[in-house]
Amino acid sequence: MNPQEYWNPVLETMPREKLKILQFKKFKRILNWAYTRSKFHRALYDTAGLTPDDICSFDDIKKIPKVEKSMMRGIQNKDPFPYGDALCVPLEEVSTFRQTSGTTGQPVYQPDTWQDWEWWSECWSFILWAQGYRPRDRVFIPFGYNIFVAFWAGHYAAEKLGCEVVPGGVLDTQSRILKIKELNATAMMATPTYILRMADVAKNKMGIDPSLLSINKITCAGEPGAGIPSTKKRMEDAWGAKVYDHSGATEIGAWSYECSKQPCGMHVNEAMFLVEIEDLNTGEIIEEAGRKGKMIITALDRMAQPCIRFDSKDVIEWDPEPCSCGRSFRLIKGGVIGRSDDITKVKGVLLSPAAIEEVVRSIDGLGNEFEIIVDKQGDVDRIKLKVELLPGVTRLSIENILKDQLRLKTNLGYLIEFYDYGSLPRYEVKAKRFKDLRKKNFNEKEERP
Ligand SMILES: [Zn+2]
Repeated sequence: MNPQEYWNPVLETMPREKLKILQFKKFKRILNWAYTRSKFHRALYDTAGLTPDDICSFDDIKKIPKVEKSMMRGIQNKDPFPYGDALCVPLEEVSTFRQTSGTTGQPVYQPDTWQDWEWWSECWSFILWAQGYRPRDRVFIPFGYNIFVAFWAGHYAAEKLGCEVVPGGVLDTQSRILKIKELNATAMMATPTYILRMADVAKNKMGIDPSLLSINKITCAGEPGAGIPSTKKRMEDAWGAKVYDHSGATEIGAWSYECSKQPCGMHVNEAMFLVEIEDLNTGEIIEEAGRKGKMIITALDRMAQPCIRFDSKDVIEWDPEPCSCGRSFRLIKGGVIGRSDDITKVKGVLLSPAAIEEVVRSIDGLGNEFEIIVDKQGDVDRIKLKVELLPGVTRLSIENILKDQLRLKTNLGYLIEFYDYGSLPRYEVKAKRFKDLRKKNFNEKEERP
């Protein structure tokens, strides 16, 4: 073990028994903090007939009620405005405002203190160091610096590591590519959708081959793409760079990261977060590897608006194998597999949009863009898949391969519509590719920041 490989060698290689003790201590601390300072949390635990003193062992943690995003919406827009009853610090200690990017209903506001913001950068430092970022890197960050948390903490963490950071804020895509070229930037952070979009613009609009640029590593977040093998391959081939996955959220924090060994999964930062996986049907906590469930997560050190047993709706599973990098933090297999509210039944079969993405992006003649629409024809479910043919590729050469692969990987039949290259919508941040029109009051799915 070379300590230089880890941002925090003590925490990242801590024996698991010790790690569990640390997590329990920290859990008790944040629970006490919220119970004594937040009316919202106190009422939640009082209703369940629990106080922090009732949590005497690791097993007791699951007795603590979960928090849903809708509950957070309900308490906000009240005093202390706009955060309401979950705020645990005086308003004057809040130094940073962010909000979730949900497109349905009221977004959730997220207050952070300066200490919380330091914590954000620290969590991201684990990620960037594990992905090979070092002080010699020049990091280009192509996102709109705004009210969404996105890559803000990635920016500050890169500075903390000693990298040189180039904020690619309000520039358009072509100007961003020119800036990367001009400055020989070596690393970049963006959503998978935007990484592919940039490569497409460089190649097809500017005559620049992105694989000849100097970018050698890319950190993805915001969408599961970097955990989907065919999408990851497309990004790595296009940019001639290593592509790493990361998952985080405004109301949680930066809780996971792929390391430089690229183990087809992400480490949970178990020194800073407690992740539990709950069976989607029974609600039982899943300890063993290989069973999918939804993530219930606690941010162990976030103080202004605590995140305690938050129902993230991310579907994940534990990997049975430890990682060859030597970290004792457990891996989740294949990253975040999907969202529990996206994994829906079609004709009685569970459908995951990520499985369709894996197929579409594995076929060479198809473009990066696609859309999935589920509706009903009479009483029968129907899935429409819209794809783009790359220039010079014929429908005949692709259709059967696509149909066979979809049936093999998802056990479902599709109505496939082929479009000319460039016809489907393009996205700058996160794509909206999945629509289930069978759902009552269908609106655009809510996004994760
Ligand atoms: Zn690893």
